Amino acid sequence: MTQKNDFTEWYIQTIQKAELMAYSPVKGSIIFRPDGFELWEHIQEEFNRFLKAEGIRNAYFPMLIPQSFFTKEADHIEGFAPELPWVTEVGNEKLEEPLALRPTSETMIGSAFSDWINSYRDLPYEINQWANVFRWEKKTLPFLRTSEFLWQEGHTAHEDEAGARKRTLGILDEYARLCEEFLAIPVYKGQKTPSERFAGAVDTYSIEAMMKDGKAVQAGTSHYMGTKFAEAFDITYLSKENKHTYAHTTSWGVSTRLLGALIMTHGDENGLVFPPTIAPTQIVLMPVGPWKKNPAILEKLEELFASFKAKGIRVRLDDSDNSPGYKFNEWELKGACLRIECGPRDLENGHVMVKVRDLAEKQTVAFDDLADFVDQQLAAMTPRLLEAARNRNKENEYYDIETLEELKAHIETCKKEDKVTGFVLIGWDGTEETEAKIKEETGFTTRNIPFEAPMEKTVDIVSGKPAKHTVWIARAY
Ligand code: AMP
Repeated sequence: MTQKNDFTEWYIQTIQKAELMAYSPVKGSIIFRPDGFELWEHIQEEFNRFLKAEGIRNAYFPMLIPQSFFTKEADHIEGFAPELPWVTEVGNEKLEEPLALRPTSETMIGSAFSDWINSYRDLPYEINQWANVFRWEKKTLPFLRTSEFLWQEGHTAHEDEAGARKRTLGILDEYARLCEEFLAIPVYKGQKTPSERFAGAVDTYSIEAMMKDGKAVQAGTSHYMGTKFAEAFDITYLSKENKHTYAHTTSWGVSTRLLGALIMTHGDENGLVFPPTIAPTQIVLMPVGPWKKNPAILEKLEELFASFKAKGIRVRLDDSDNSPGYKFNEWELKGACLRIECGPRDLENGHVMVKVRDLAEKQTVAFDDLADFVDQQLAAMTPRLLEAARNRNKENEYYDIETLEELKAHIETCKKEDKVTGFVLIGWDGTEETEAKIKEETGFTTRNIPFEAPMEKTVDIVSGKPAKHTVWIARAY
């Protein structure tokens, strides 16, 4: 299956063939195979560095949440109720109170905060949890939307609105940095419209990413809760003026959805492409030609293997009996960043052949230059992938669509010319009616109200009324 023919099918087949994941017997939940889980581990390492620098500590809260917790915040339960799986009995006995498998932990953590936070001196109180969560989604797609997924959820409590808002937006900046610098995924920062807000939040902010097929992925969210959860769970503190005061809380998360975004941003017809920052295999070494007759070849590769490993590079040596063609395909599919080949003639001439995953031509590199060459290539590849994705995004952003008819015409033109429908910047009068109409007639949804819109739109795309906001819309995963 090619990307061109059916992008989603390409995705589903590639992640299985490359052994990132496998389906489980339960619909919508997946097995993370070692390469897939390693991608998540690198994201954890990178984000943990940020958390530690900020003094935000990791903790772990139970997965089972009493039903009564959910009923405390009305919007929260209303939003999550349709997706909640419940534990109602143990053995043959019914539980007195049903327990939900957490879809998120505001309630559990809110209840703990209520005990732990007493005075203004305790604030800000900031923690993070790495965990699995459950949301019984109707339509699922590996990594991007599963009914059990892995994520981090940060929860913070502050003295006032200013402190909480600063944290909310600071996290969004960090998510954007994580996506762009670490995953080479360019993102669009902005605020969600009220209909897309997190259940129980005052304001929700998101980073949105554009996949190769022009569809959007909501890559991360950060929420300002005001005092809503503080009121529901009695998170109060004694202020400097000795007054009982509600704390302002935030929560924010990125999930294993990021792996889906990573694959759909960089993958090509040959398979996965990973920036070296996160690639499970940064270098693969392989002997080629009649190498078994010449043991010096494997010895040289083993020496190189040891030297790369000593530098902390994620390196593998493929000395299997598979043909070179098979090995090339396999490691391209798996997204190894650099492939280093050495055969009898290469050894004789004191060099290797190097193929960089996202560059067309192989290069000849002398043994003496190899260490520097590898360092340069590994450093250059991530920004190069980011740049390529940015350029692609620019080609698929549309600014001049003013009416629903024009949006429909745009979709038709894209179909005829075999182009992706991309992100469309529109004017919005702020009503849910407009959002519903766009969705119903085109399948586009509002992504976010960008912090930095490339231009201001003045007229609502549906009603023709003056626009209150300029909004990105797109089809989304
Ligand atoms: P939320 O708590 O809804 O703001 O979501 C937090 C993060 O998890 C966001 O980055 C979402 O895009 C992501 N997310 C939400 N639902 C799912 C799901 N079913 N599978 C994977 N990731 C999800």
